Amino acid sequence: MANLNTRKIEELKSVFKGEILLPSDAAYESARKIWNAMIDKHPAVIARCVTTADVVRGVNFARDNGLLLAVRGGGHNIAGNAMCDDGIVIDLSQMKATSVDPDRRRVTVEGGATLADLDAATQVYGLATPLGINSTTGVAGLTLGGGFGWLSRKFGMTVDNLESAEVVIATGEVVRASATENPDLFWALRGGGGNFGVVTRFEFRLHPVGPDVLSGLIVYPISEAKSVLQQYREFTAKAPEELSVWTILRQAPPLPFLPESVHGKEIIALALIYAGDPKQGEPLIEPLRKLGTPLGEHVGVQPYVAWQRAFDPLLTFGARNYWKSHNFSILKDGLFDVVIEYINKLPSPQTEIFFGAIGCATTWPAPDATAYAHRDALFVMNVHCRWEDLADDKRCIAWARDYFNASTPFASGGVYVNFLTADEGDRVRSAYGPNYDRLALVKRTYDPDNLFRMNQNIKPS
Ligand SMILES: Cc1cc2nc3c(=O)[nH]c(=O)nc-3n(C[C@H](O)[C@H](O)[C@H](O)COP(=O)(O)OP(=O)(O)OC[C@H]3O[C@@H](n4cnc5c(N)ncnc54)[C@H](O)[C@@H]3O)c2cc1C
Repeated sequence: MANLNTRKIEELKSVFKGEILLPSDAAYESARKIWNAMIDKHPAVIARCVTTADVVRGVNFARDNGLLLAVRGGGHNIAGNAMCDDGIVIDLSQMKATSVDPDRRRVTVEGGATLADLDAATQVYGLATPLGINSTTGVAGLTLGGGFGWLSRKFGMTVDNLESAEVVIATGEVVRASATENPDLFWALRGGGGNFGVVTRFEFRLHPVGPDVLSGLIVYPISEAKSVLQQYREFTAKAPEELSVWTILRQAPPLPFLPESVHGKEIIALALIYAGDPKQGEPLIEPLRKLGTPLGEHVGVQPYVAWQRAFDPLLTFGARNYWKSHNFSILKDGLFDVVIEYINKLPSPQTEIFFGAIGCATTWPAPDATAYAHRDALFVMNVHCRWEDLADDKRCIAWARDYFNASTPFASGGVYVNFLTADEGDRVRSAYGPNYDRLALVKRTYDPDNLFRMNQNIKPS
């Protein structure tokens, strides 16, 4: 740890409005924990900011003292870059304020808000912007990587709905980024990750959604998985943009609508939402009930915010996690064989493979319209390998890597930056794709010394 002494810490504390947590503080242990329990880092300082001015103080402190700097939004990122060893963490978890302008259909949200915070604020007015599928995820990290979820086929990636941002850059200046203010920075923020500064405020466009939506799960036995996947592929290709259907293959959790004999058995689940009038959605989802012999279903009209939380119980904080991800522009039969082979030898009861169906509005912008480049991706596959016991690390990670290698021949080559683990430095260029070189130029303008490097890093050109 360079040049850090008690006097400097005391100086920072004397001007800081939030909390400065040191390893000797009671709150330090919980503050250094993030979603993935594999991450066990010990920062020298956790600066829990409550204002943009606090963020400026934290950035200046890191730069002036030569400290490694990490930025924590929702703390969800699998790679664990929200924490660092020995350096300073700019922790935005207390900065969650939202403000909705229903007439202009805009929301502003602070950089530490979760998807739950944002949805709760906008759904009061029956409005929403596309976000992810787990409500405890941070808006900041999700947005900066691109962001996709149940509404993306209709309204695009999260970044396609970003109007402006307030950013603390490496010099400590507070700048605005939008189509007309620092447009190079605005372009880079929309998919370039946390490389360019700390975003203290995002402004998004909103769309009418719900507040009640037709959504839920239809579950089939794994013995029917290949045929279900083949029919799913045909169905998704023709589905309207309001209808999103994702597939999840795993062992069945003890869901009340499934017979007990199915609990713990391998299944394939279709997770669906119709982001329009539920009456129009009903006949459209009917074919999904006839892809085989369903084991059970739980589909109905429910609040959009409830559906946004539906997967939270399976994806709680504190388990050990290792992920592998591929983008696909087509799902081939050979891939289905590989998926089913690996689902039949899962390394842990919580592990799952899911295919998120995007497409429609996510494909409409040109690949260089935003830093997020993967406009050809129609499916994002993620292997959520998840377990509790440290003793299982080697076995679980090996399973995930083996499955990943076996599925690689069917993938498009691109990968979603937000799903990269810590050990995938070799895939960072694939994650930024053809936009990498332009991102490196913007990085040179805003962060030439690479102060913001605890991320899937873009080296200044
Ligand atoms: C259970 C789960 C489900 C998920 N589902 C989806 C999904 O449906 N769709 C999807 O698109 N993604 C999804 N993700 C991935 C998610 O988008 C990334 O993990 C994202 O990085 C999380 O953001 P965060 O703010 O919570 O993370 P953090 O770990 O806090 O931050 C991740 C990185 O983002 C940067 N960062 C964070 N906050 C700021 C800020 N305010 N300013 C500048 N940089 C910042 C930093 O570089 C940091 O290292 C999911 C993740 C999990 C764990």
